[in-house]
Amino acid sequence: MELHAVPGLPEIHPGDDLAGLLAERADLEAGDVVTVASTVVSKAEGRAFDLDEFPASPRAREIALRLEDVTGEEKDPRFAQAVLEESTELLMEAPFLLTESRFGHVSVNAGIDRSNVPGHDLLLLPKNPAASAGRIREGLLEAGHDVAVIVTDTCGRPFRHGQRGVALGWAGMPASRDWRGEKDRDGRKLGVTVQSVVDELASAANLVAGEGDGGTPAVVVRGWSFGDHEGSDELFREVETDFVRQALRTWRYDSKVGR
Ligand code: GDP
Ligand code: MN
Ligand code: MN
Repeated sequence: MELHAVPGLPEIHPGDDLAGLLAERADLEAGDVVTVASTVVSKAEGRAFDLDEFPASPRAREIALRLEDVTGEEKDPRFAQAVLEESTELLMEAPFLLTESRFGHVSVNAGIDRSNVPGHDLLLLPKNPAASAGRIREGLLEAGHDVAVIVTDTCGRPFRHGQRGVALGWAGMPASRDWRGEKDRDGRKLGVTVQSVVDELASAANLVAGEGDGGTPAVVVRGWSFGDHEGSDELFREVETDFVRQALRTWRYDSKVGR
């Protein structure tokens, strides 16, 4: 498997045709997977906003005050308002905001970025990254390139330090490869392994894209194939079967003990 960044992509603005730009600049072969950082998808979809566009509700003010209290840092209630508006559930309100986005992705601050957003305060995630991936894939197909597309973001994770790339939306391939029923080297049947290939490809691509001013939001993955396997499009757990998330519902941050 080989990965290479698409060179020469410009600063992206609202209305830009990402598929067209990629078709022009990327070296593509049928069967490649193209990852695109949500940052540029959001820019193209006009998801950059200013804090003034999110007048704070009483709830947002309450959340920001508690965060200030707990962290000792100044918190803008309009930012809390933006996070609330992007979310369907608030899982943690201190010492940071952890929410479920409208498309099912759980992340800190609803994935709202304050870096790589020239001219605006905030960049919200794409409204529906799966639909975004589908549109980019369709555009590339029209230009003659039959490739899968993954829209990615960089996220922290529980239990481990450090951030890594994850998939937010994908098109042209399943999210996971189901290993259940296949055999290990002892002939024992695998019972639980469903490999999240879109996340693994997103992580690999994120290594190439980088996080700063590299200007390389799109990466071509060549030589990886889903093959003839069972797949699934499930990625975001439902709360009914997510016991860690259920445990959070009865947990509350205690600023005195710091946990
Ligand atoms: P995120 O992971 O989706 O939040 O995106 P990042 O802010 O980490 O950026 C990923 C990559 O895209 C980095 O190499 C950035 O320099 C690059 N990038 C961000 N915005 C633009 C843009 O408008 N144009 C180009 N060419 N690169 C960008
Ligand atoms: Mn991001
Ligand atoms: Mn990133």
